[in-house]
Amino acid sequence: MEFRDLKKQYQVLKPQIDEEISAVIQSSRFISGPQVARLEQELAEYVGVKHCITCANGTDALTIALMAWNIGEGDAVFVPDFTFFSSGECPAYEGATPVYVDVDANTYNIDPQKLEEAILKVKEEGRLVPKVVVTVDLFGLPADYAKIRPICDKYGLLLLEDGAQGFGGSVNGKLACSFGDISTTSFFPAKPLGCYGDGGAIFTDNDEWADLIRSICVHGKDTSNPNDPNAKYNNIRLGMNSRLDTIQAAVLLPKFHAFKEYELKDVNTVADWYTEALKDTDLVLPLIQEGFWSSWAQYTVQLPENVDRKALQSVLKEKGIPTMVYYAKPMHLQGAFAGTVSAEADCPVTVKLCQTVLSLPMHPYMSREDVEFVVKELKEQLAAA
Ligand SMILES: *Cc1c(COP(=O)(O)O)cnc(C)c1O
Repeated sequence: MEFRDLKKQYQVLKPQIDEEISAVIQSSRFISGPQVARLEQELAEYVGVKHCITCANGTDALTIALMAWNIGEGDAVFVPDFTFFSSGECPAYEGATPVYVDVDANTYNIDPQKLEEAILKVKEEGRLVPKVVVTVDLFGLPADYAKIRPICDKYGLLLLEDGAQGFGGSVNGKLACSFGDISTTSFFPAKPLGCYGDGGAIFTDNDEWADLIRSICVHGKDTSNPNDPNAKYNNIRLGMNSRLDTIQAAVLLPKFHAFKEYELKDVNTVADWYTEALKDTDLVLPLIQEGFWSSWAQYTVQLPENVDRKALQSVLKEKGIPTMVYYAKPMHLQGAFAGTVSAEADCPVTVKLCQTVLSLPMHPYMSREDVEFVVKELKEQLAAA
């Protein structure tokens, strides 16, 4: 079985995807074709925000948001310690200092109380100016925005939602990528909504930032005259070349429809099967709080400390069950931050999670038989440990 079965998904959606790709090739509008604007409109409508601007990948999306806010040297950007590298890489690349905050052991998301403590500590030390909180909707589950938003308001901080894994998740019906002042996502193939290469998107309700973001995505072009064909060669600021290819937008259109119509529901059914079958084990299972809905980018469990994770993974692999470790290293211990202030973070929960987590095969096309097989083999190995 596959960890995330993109081939099976393609078999189901092949006629629509092939037709969309072929239409782009025939039109030869490979950059900024009409499919891109159509996708942006559909995504904005679904998420429930005014503007969606697509870009080249989820890492650029984060960087562009920080550029729009002019975040740089001397600024503190609060980031969960347990996440993919980009969440902290982008603020650091802009010259700001990522301040790593520990996460909740059950939801895997940033711990609001520890966030406030970290903000107070930075203020007290006075070396950096607190500017931005990056929340990550890890493994598909939105962060605890009911607690985080008031903290941002209290200290005058901007909220940047890294929804790379969270697209499709929600809290009491409010969708991921609508919680940030700016929110971002990624269409990397293995994300909840993936394309056939790299892709990303930026969401905001703010007109001024949306304009700025559109400009930054295309070399800082002048966006004040959208109907002037020469305006794109009038560059009023430094930007990037970060666009979603038309072919990727064309792939995403039918995939987004399937995502809305059944994939999101089906992946939640698969999660329920796992949770039901594993509830009587020593594993710590993912916690989805009341009112929360996950898009299940990963189904991640915590192993008892006596289990040799590497050995377990290799036994499961022999049986044809692929597993992954997301993530093996806390952000503050990544070599890129060695010797910097960012490395000084104290995040014991993350350190322990990095030693015990294991992500199981997970995708909307997974059969009940496959889930049962994974559970049976996993239980057997746990019993033997
Ligand atoms: C994947 C991911 C990103 C980066 O997205 P890319 O499209 O691969 O650049 C950023 N943040 C998180 C949490 C991610 O999982």
